[in-house]
Amino acid sequence: MIRNRNSDLEIEERLSRDGSALDQKNLDRIADSYRQLLDAVGEDLDREGLRRTPDRAARALEFLTQGYRQDIDEIINGAVFESSASEIILVKDIELYSLCEHHLLPFIGRAHVAYIPSGKVIGLSKVARIVDVFARRFQIQENLTTQIAESLMRCLEPSGVAVVVEAKHLCMMMRGVEKQNSVMKTSCLLGVFKDDARTRSEFLSLLKE
Ligand SMILES: [Zn+2]
Repeated sequence: MIRNRNSDLEIEERLSRDGSALDQKNLDRIADSYRQLLDAVGEDLDREGLRRTPDRAARALEFLTQGYRQDIDEIINGAVFESSASEIILVKDIELYSLCEHHLLPFIGRAHVAYIPSGKVIGLSKVARIVDVFARRFQIQENLTTQIAESLMRCLEPSGVAVVVEAKHLCMMMRGVEKQNSVMKTSCLLGVFKDDARTRSEFLSLLKE
């Protein structure tokens, strides 16, 4: 109990620090919606275990959608460095948690992000932050992949960007719509990764290592 409370507080603190908290009015609206939702499926809102659930779930949703209230430029700001590097930089296996916009259920997986600098590089942890900013919204995997690639292209003006996302979709798995273990793979190749077959195959072989 105490532990839960602490981690709730930690999350709140993190949110308020980077300005991605919701205002109280909207948090209350979300909690009200959860009350309605629980009632509509036939739950007893006064049941002990559910007493704090609407507020807790609203906080959780606030965290999972904080990407709407974060600014890529602000996150990247100060983490871009000049460099003469001109080889592929690949950040592999970035954990990814998002929510599908069709069912509001999670999809979970990994993102692999590569770019070839043209004068500018970015801190590795920032690449993961960029993935989070777009993942913490309601998404479809195809758009998420493209948004990550395009924002790097815009901020770093590299020779090229390649993003591959592989994820399992709980809306398929839990509802038994498709094969339980199917993984969806999407990619977005820009610049030299798109135009040059050798660069592309170098990237793909790096991914396999
Ligand atoms: Zn879905």
